[in-house]
Order: sequence, then C-alpha cells, then structure tokens
Amino acid sequence: MYPNGNIGQIISILEKTLGKADISNDENQLAFYCPKCRHHKKKLSITIDKNLFHCWVCNYSGKGVHKLSKNSSDAIVLKRLTKWTNRKEVKETKEITNINQPKEFKRLLTSSSSPLRLNTYQYSIKRGLTDYYIDKYNLMYVSDPTSYYSNRLIIPSYNKNGELNYFNARAIYDDEKMKYKNPKVEKSLIIPFEMYISWDQPIVLVEGMIDAMKVDYNAIPLMGNTVSDLIIEKILYYKTPSVYLLLDGDAYKFLYRNCNKLIKHNITPKIVLLEKDKDPGELDTQYLQTIILNKSRDCNFEYLMKLKLLSNGEQ
Ligand SMILES: [Zn+2]
Repeated sequence: MYPNGNIGQIISILEKTLGKADISNDENQLAFYCPKCRHHKKKLSITIDKNLFHCWVCNYSGKGVHKLSKNSSDAIVLKRLTKWTNRKEVKETKEITNINQPKEFKRLLTSSSSPLRLNTYQYSIKRGLTDYYIDKYNLMYVSDPTSYYSNRLIIPSYNKNGELNYFNARAIYDDEKMKYKNPKVEKSLIIPFEMYISWDQPIVLVEGMIDAMKVDYNAIPLMGNTVSDLIIEKILYYKTPSVYLLLDGDAYKFLYRNCNKLIKHNITPKIVLLEKDKDPGELDTQYLQTIILNKSRDCNFEYLMKLKLLSNGEQ
C-alpha cells in the first residue's frame, strides 16, 4: 500500500526510474537501488521533507529528488509535488479572498416589480438562464440606474468559503459598447466559481462564466486566459481524476495554449469540441453534459501537434 496523497505520488513516480522503494514507518525516508553504483542493496536514501538524496556507498547525492527521474515531464511533476509535500493544504494566502460587492447589486430572483429587475430577468431568461440558474448562482441585477454597472446582469463568483472573489457584469442591451464590465482582479490568483467545485471529481474547463453555468457540473471558467498555475496546483494536489476542456469548434489557439500547458504538467486533458459557431453558453445543460460524456477525446502528443498546426492558420 502506498501512503496517501503527495508522498504516495512521489514514490510511484520515482519507482518508474529506480524500481521498488523501501519506505520508513514515518514515510519520510525512502531507500532505492542506487542508479550510479548499482550496489546490490538499496543504498540510495531519500529524505522527503528535506528533498535530499544520498547513496551510502558511492556518495552520489544532491538536493531535489526530481533530478533522479529520467522522464522530463515526471521531473516537473516531482518538483511541484516535493514543493507542496510539507504543506497540509495548497497555500491559500496568495489567493484573493474577497472583494466588495457594490450595494446596488440585488438578488434577481425576488418578487420586486422594479423595471430594472424585470429587464435583467428577461435578458437572463433569453440567454437560457432560468430560475434554476438564477437561484443556484445567485445572479443579480443593479437596482440603481445611475450605477457604473446599470443595465447589467451580475454573475458573481464565490471562493470556497462563499466569499465574493469576482463578478461579471454583462450588458443586457445589445447596443451597449462594453459587453462586460468586470472588477480589476488578478485573475491568476482566483478560482472562479470555486464554491461549486469538488476537486476530487472530474472538472470541466470552459471559457466564460455563462458557459460554466450551462455545464452546471464542476465547471471552471478560464475567462479567456490560459489555465492558471493555481488551477494546475489544485489539480495535482487533489489528484483530480479527469480534466475536460470544452470549447467552441474553432478556438484552436486557445485550445492549443491550454492543452500544451496541462500536458507539460503531466495532465492529459480530454477535449470536447463543439461544432463551429456553437457557443456553450447558447446550449442547454443536458446537451452539454451528454457530449462531455460521449464526445471527448484525449489530447495526446499527436493531437497537440495537430492543434498547433491548426492554430498557426488562425488569424
Ligand atoms: Zn551509489
């Protein structure tokens, strides 16, 4: 039996190169056959919490057990795992915990007959965001017509403690020049919709917040960016079993960028490509969940190369 969590993962990766390990009771000392002198006893000792290795026979030693792995993508994973090993939980301090909610943001699902609420409600329904989504995702309208955010549907995002960490303010009228007004937040430091995410279940990465609501199952909006280091750290830490990337059919550049980054961290994403001109935000939840389950393909190296070629042709 492997120890749980990171240490078990570190051992199983090292064993690919070094063969079976002997593990001390406290799981902090590992013994392997030495790859340098090949002594017939397991004389290469690894101290996990110090990230050191040392052979008692030939003196082969160093800091950073990832140096022992012959496979470069394994080495990247090892480097990250050893970095996090002595932490109980992925470090949260650099995450932004909360932002202030403007006081004119009001819950959309009420009986208020304010035209501001009704117009926003109608827009929400038109986008397929029915009472179910309005309630679950706590969508809001802007109750003050002089507000910077007036005439917008507010989609809030909450961190895992239920604190507001971001929001989208989407214009409800087409003639509005700025489709979105969003708070200035360093997006690489937050996990949008984390309150709804179970990291130990498969996750679905999508482009926007409406897409994520429509998927309605463990979906994280990337908001046009590359998947952040923070998301990758959480995936590795929680050993998320599958990572799906759901995108419209011609977002090759975006897809290539994200697949490439995930593969570099030893995560093979499953790709779900929609038909061209189809946007997940316009499709219904049942349809999206069905194609996620039935129409995904692993993004292996060959497919990644194909994506690279396709994305080069993109303007
Ligand atoms: Zn040795």
